[in-house]
Amino acid sequence: MEILSEIPNRALAIYAHPDDADVSCGGTLALWSAGGCEIHLVVCAGGDKGSSDPLLDADTLMGVREREVETAQKHLGIKSVDFLRIPDGEVVNDIALRRKLVNIIRGFLPEVVISPDPTAIFFGEHYYNHRDHRETGWAALDAVSPAAFSPLYFKEEGSPHKVSYMLLSGTLAPSVFVDIARSIDRKERAISSHVSQLGDSTEWLRSIVRERAKEAFVQTGIEFSEGFRRMVF
Ligand SMILES: [Zn+2]
Repeated sequence: MEILSEIPNRALAIYAHPDDADVSCGGTLALWSAGGCEIHLVVCAGGDKGSSDPLLDADTLMGVREREVETAQKHLGIKSVDFLRIPDGEVVNDIALRRKLVNIIRGFLPEVVISPDPTAIFFGEHYYNHRDHRETGWAALDAVSPAAFSPLYFKEEGSPHKVSYMLLSGTLAPSVFVDIARSIDRKERAISSHVSQLGDSTEWLRSIVRERAKEAFVQTGIEFSEGFRRMVF
């Protein structure tokens, strides 16, 4: 177990749904951007099925959710966002997605990539990891290594780039923790930006965010943290 205190220069976050990055690593992103890190976010899925209203138009909801991301990104200091607009439930770790991610990695040149841990499936008795999260996690891993740094993969998508390390969120095997005491307020504000997903449950959400951030306290001695599985290349 290690406390990760260094701030990278360039970080790329690759997540499935419009609110996933905020929930998974919003504290880390807000801390890093305040420390001068340039952050780019990739949102793979449209968020077009994030409603229980059967009459809601998918394109309308996707537009609403993209605007919510634009509000959230200001709280986190995310500089730019790519929306891949894959329909919810249809994200697949296929050649097309890996090609797109390799293109983005080779264009943005991140030192670190943050994405979901696809091996984390069962969380207690009431939740198992969404398929889109798992597929996004595998696609990010496969795009970073070996594809993005091998000159023989996707030659037409730019020059090879080697990412220094990956941080995998939502993991059951965290190896590093980031102290988010100074950025948990911004994380909460970012999550609260996703109004279409929250309704009037903002207060409830705040207590959940703080409870989760306290979960590793016994291990780390840090009041609020985000834990990640780190892969170094
Ligand atoms: Zn999600």
